[in-house]
Order: sequence, then structure tokens, then C-alpha cells
Amino acid sequence: MSIMELAQRDITYCKNVGAKRADILRKELGVTTALDLLRQYPYKYIDRSRFYRIAELDDDDTYVQIIGEVTEWHTIGIGKAQRLSATFFDGTHQCELVWFQGAKYVKLQRGVKYLLFGKPSRFQHLYNFVHPELTPWSKVTPEMTQGLEPYYNTTETMKRHGLNSKAIRQIIAGLLPELKTGVPDTLGADILQRYRLMSLTEALVNIHFPKDTLSMQNARARFKFEELFYIQLQILRQMKRREQNPGFRMPMVGSRFHALYKALPFDLTGAQKRVIHEIHDDLKSGRQMNRLLQGDVGSGKTLVALLCCLLAVDNGYQTCIMAPTEILANQHYETLKAFLAPLNVQSDNVQGTKDNHVHVALLTGSTTAKNRVPVHNGLLNGTIHILIGTHALLEDAVQWRNLGLVVIDEQHRFGVAQRAKLWGKSAVSHQNSAVSIPPHILVMTATPIPRTLAMTVYGDLSVSIIDELPPGRKPIQTIHYSIQRRAQVYSFLRKQIEEGRQIYVVYPLIKENEKMDLLDLQNGFNELCEAFPEYKISMVHGQMKAADKDYQMQRFASGETKILVATTVIEVGVNVPNATVMVIQNAERFGLSQLHQLRGRVGRGGDQSYCILMTDFELSKDTRKRMDIMVATNDGFRIAEADLQLRGPGDLEGTLQSGIPFQLHIANLATDNQILTLARQAAKEILDTDPLLEEERNRIYKRQLDILRVSQSYNWGEIS
Ligand code: ADP
Ligand code: MG
Repeated sequence: MSIMELAQRDITYCKNVGAKRADILRKELGVTTALDLLRQYPYKYIDRSRFYRIAELDDDDTYVQIIGEVTEWHTIGIGKAQRLSATFFDGTHQCELVWFQGAKYVKLQRGVKYLLFGKPSRFQHLYNFVHPELTPWSKVTPEMTQGLEPYYNTTETMKRHGLNSKAIRQIIAGLLPELKTGVPDTLGADILQRYRLMSLTEALVNIHFPKDTLSMQNARARFKFEELFYIQLQILRQMKRREQNPGFRMPMVGSRFHALYKALPFDLTGAQKRVIHEIHDDLKSGRQMNRLLQGDVGSGKTLVALLCCLLAVDNGYQTCIMAPTEILANQHYETLKAFLAPLNVQSDNVQGTKDNHVHVALLTGSTTAKNRVPVHNGLLNGTIHILIGTHALLEDAVQWRNLGLVVIDEQHRFGVAQRAKLWGKSAVSHQNSAVSIPPHILVMTATPIPRTLAMTVYGDLSVSIIDELPPGRKPIQTIHYSIQRRAQVYSFLRKQIEEGRQIYVVYPLIKENEKMDLLDLQNGFNELCEAFPEYKISMVHGQMKAADKDYQMQRFASGETKILVATTVIEVGVNVPNATVMVIQNAERFGLSQLHQLRGRVGRGGDQSYCILMTDFELSKDTRKRMDIMVATNDGFRIAEADLQLRGPGDLEGTLQSGIPFQLHIANLATDNQILTLARQAAKEILDTDPLLEEERNRIYKRQLDILRVSQSYNWGEIS
């Protein structure tokens, strides 16, 4: 039996299955072939080689088996409500057995040795078993008490049709004899040996019916490795292919770059300088750059982006910066104009520096048709150097003369499909010109990603990290209060405003119940107006018109309003350095990385800043943990790790939106760090000597990738 044959064998024709069950397996689990079924790994095992004494039972025990006799029993109630209760005795202690259903089918005998199997629970001092399996010892076969018994995930529908864990076990057991001859492995002998992995045949047998705990663990490790290895092989192959892409050459560090550098009111941090070097190395390499720039909130990514844009502009190329929200795009536009003011002013007055002029334009969904015309023209005739915008940049009407660098800010906010469109788009725009070279791509994110996730979600990008904040920043102090302490919080806010500072107050907004949430926001706004009658207060939320939002943001940014009441529209990127307090209402409704992003809105100037987490008095264990982590650390990477541990990888904000483009069946990104590192190393070693997998000894990997690609609906080509 080859692996191909197993992959092609329709489940209908496997032992103990048939058309009806095959249909249910297909609908409920997506299982259509024998191989699919063998790849349904057990979620737990119960050790049936171990016999317990009643005296040993523990409240944490799941399933146990005990040898003993039934000494006494009686039924209570009549008809359907009839219940059978029995006393079981293991020679020294007693426990109770209970049947609520089918009591009349249970036939008990005194003086007979039984094997009891079930899940104990304790009521006062007596353990009881509800609906246990009770088998006369004379009928117990050796298989029943051998090794670890596998348990499989099933659904309600499956159970209704008799496809419980036991039935799945039987079907899989029916396939095992076919493995006896050995199936060809899906990993090469060199890798198996080098990483001490079980062979496929052995692993398939041992993951379902392990000899002992060690074999079970080894079987699972092999499948985890295999799963992660092929993902890494795919990702790294994609990266190798990308590295072959030609790229625009931008060797020169020109006058605009130097002019801005000199005009900056502060020095770049060491980390900023380092990443600009890394990026410039890519820009001059003649290969297309695909780089991820990670840096915690407030680490100064915007300025890095601008300097990189100037590198491109000085070399004669156009650039764009795409942001996820209008507020952020507007803010980038204002920030860039302010940074560039010295260059642009001089160009009008001083002879000889005219060349340093940088034309920045803005394009968002609310740009009027009339205002779009000059933007479209400027892009086509090359007079616009930097275009800042939102998704509007993706519109078909946006055509470039020579787009050389694309920067995507807070890229985790964009879906995979949207990013793919920008990629495709730039290719299209270049078909119009003589060259068809893709622009360089720099994606930036302030949501630190745990290493394991970064290796998978962004595994095909080069990574630069800004791991240093500008000097003079005081660490933000985070305080957790329950809502009973509101008065105290208000008096603290008043003191801050009196010292000239400004304040954010954020309310959660959850889509399913937007009306209620907006009401919360409105009430909060009214309450603050009453509490602070002497100060002006702004409010912004996602339902407002863009112009109104802007107006309110401007009032806050200019210091006219002292408090900004908002939903999470301000979560990403907003920069008002004079704001020193971030109050987060109903903090229990936010995830960790969202809380960290919100907190990053303060602590941007030289003043001591504060983040106040307001929650209910009663909190779940998880919520309390989240609040404690926020109070304990400002380090985005530690928070991201904690988030991964608390919530599991599938759930992580950001990654959810960018989409982990594959489903893991057995490996776990939160816990299988070590295996992932080895799998990536193994994949890298293969590709380093044979990037296209052309060598005979690597044919196995190429073929397996093809099989995997067919079975996955996902288009790998679209990952950023
Ligand atoms: P983020 O990485 O979160 O996007 P920003 O780019 O918004 O951070 O930068 C935060 C603030 O720090 C801005 O006001 C910016 O002007 C300032 N800044 C950036 N680099 C430096 C630096 N080297 N020294 C001092 N301030 C800096
Ligand atoms: Mg930013």
C-alpha cells in the first residue's frame, strides 16, 4: 500500500464504513480518503494497562479502570425515570455506580469479578461512576487492557449515527493491517536520521495504537515536525523565488535624504539607523525587497519610512505609504509635511536647493472627485513623489509613472487579499511603462509577533526590528482600577489637565452590538462633560463622517479639546505627544495586543504618562491575568508571547486578520517552538543547496508539496 493509494482510496470502501457513514464522515470531518482518516489524530489517550484502587482515586482523574465485584444494587423510580444504583467493592473500599438510562438492560450478578471502566466523580466521601462500562472479567480480552486507548473528536451528528470515538477507532484499526508492509515515507531518510524521527509507518501505527507513552510522544513529534517542515519548505521556497525577482536599483543616498537628516530636531536612535541601513542594502541590491519592519509602538517607524521614501525619490522613483484608516493616513500626511517643511520652504527661496523639493499628496476614500484629478495626473506625470492614502490607493484609476517603493503601515490591519491586490496592481502599472519590475515592499507593524508566529505568518519576509525607543521617554505607568474608583480617577485626570496635559478615554466597540456600544460611548461622553464642565471634549467613532472625525481629531491634536472620547478608531498610529493619560473603559473586553496598542497612544512626549485600565469588580481568571500582564510590563514582545499562551495562535488579533494561511492539525504554535525551529532549519538546509528541488534525492519533497497544495484551497502565492 503506497501513500498515494491511501490518498486515493475512497473511505466508502474501507472496512466498517459504507456509503452512509462515508457521507457523514465527509460532511462532519471533511474525511474522504483512507489517508484522511489516518490523519485524524487522537486528541487524548487513556492508559488501559493501569488498574486503580478506589483508595487511590483523585478528583482530577479522567478515566480509570478498577477490578472488583458488585455487592448490592437497587432501582429507584419507574418507567423512563427509572434509575439503577449499585455498590462496587474492590476488596477494601466501595464506590457507587449509577445508570440513568437503559437501566433495565444492565444485568448484574453477585460474586462475579468485573472490570469497571469510567470517569469518577466525588460526592461527599463517596466516588461514583455514571454509566460506566462494566465487563465480566471472563470476557475481558488482552487488547482491552493493553496500552493507551486513543480518543477521537466526534460531532453530535456523528454520535447520533453511531460514529463515536470507539467506532472511529475500529475503522482505523481496520486500516492498520494494510500498513504492515510499510508505506513509503513522506520525509527523506537523511532527515529522519538526523532529527531522530519515527518512520511514517511506525508513526501511523503508534499515533493511533501506541505501545507506550514514549512511542506515542515520538509518533506525535514526527507528525508535528512533518507538518511544520512542509509549511516552512513552502514558505522558504516562496522566499527564494522572490529573491530572484529583479528590483529597481537605488544605490544613491541623495540630497533630499541628507537635507532631512540634517534638519531633524533629534538624532536617530541606533536601531533606526541600523534598519535604514538594512533597507538601503536591499534597495541597492538589484533584487526586489520584501521586508517586514517590526517596532514597538512609539519606536519611530514613520520617520524610518519617510527616510526610505526619500532614498527612493532621490533615485528618481515614486513611493506610497498605505495606512489602514483615514485618521492615520491624514496624520501621516500632516506629519510628513511637517518633517519636510524645511526642504520645501528652501526650495522656493534658496537657489540651488530647489531640487530638494518633495511633493507629498493624500488620497483617501473621502477625497472628492475634483481633488482626485490633480492627484491622478501628478502620479502619471511623476510630479508627486510620495502618495499617502488608505485602500483608495488600490483603485484602478490610480496609475503610476514609476512606483519604486511601497510602504504599508500597520500591515496586520490589512487582509491578505487586499495586500495581494496592491502587489498585482503595481505589476499592472508597470506593464504600461517599459519595464516590468515589481516595486520594493516594506511592511510595518507595531504588533509584535511571537517568534513562532513570525516564522510562519511572515516566514517569507526579511525582518528588521527597531528594538529601542527614542531617548528620554519615561516608561508608561499602568494602573488597574475597578469602576467603583471612578471619582478617584476623575480627580487624577483633572490634575493632569491642570498641568496642561490631555487625555484619551476609550470605549470598546464590538460589531454585533454596535448600537449598545455607541450608547455607552455617548453616555460616557455626557458623563465626562458633566464632570469636566470647564473643559472642551471631543468625541470620535467609526460611524461618523470622515470630515467630522478629522475635525474632532484636529481640535484634540491642537490642544483645543482636553479630552478625546473615542472607540478603538484611535487604536493604531495616532500621535498626539501632549496626551499623557489613556483611560480604557471595560478593559476586560479588549485583547492584550489591543490594550498594548491603545496604551501606545500615550508616552510619546517627554512627560510621565499613564494608562488606566477600568474594569468591573468581578473578573474571570483570564481577564485578571491579562490586566496583571499589562500592569507588569510595557514590552510588546512579552505581551505578544503572553497573548499567544493565553489564547492560542488561531485567536491572536492581527494574525487573525492577516490570516494564518494554513490549518495546523497537530502542531501548536504556542508550544511547539523547538520542533518548529528544527523543521525550519531542515527546510532551509535543503533549499540552500537545491532551491528549486530539482535534485533526485529531493524529489520526494517536491512531490509531497504538490500533494499538499492540491489538498489546500489556499493560494500560497498571495502571502505577502
Ligand atoms: P510608531 O513606531 O509607533 O509609528 P512614530 O513614528 O509615530 O512611532 O513615532 C513616535 C514619535 O517619536 C513621533 O512623535 C516621532 O516624531 C518621534 N520620534 C521618532 N524618532 C525619534 C527619535 N530618534 N528621537 C526622538 N523622537 C523621535
Ligand atoms: Mg506608526
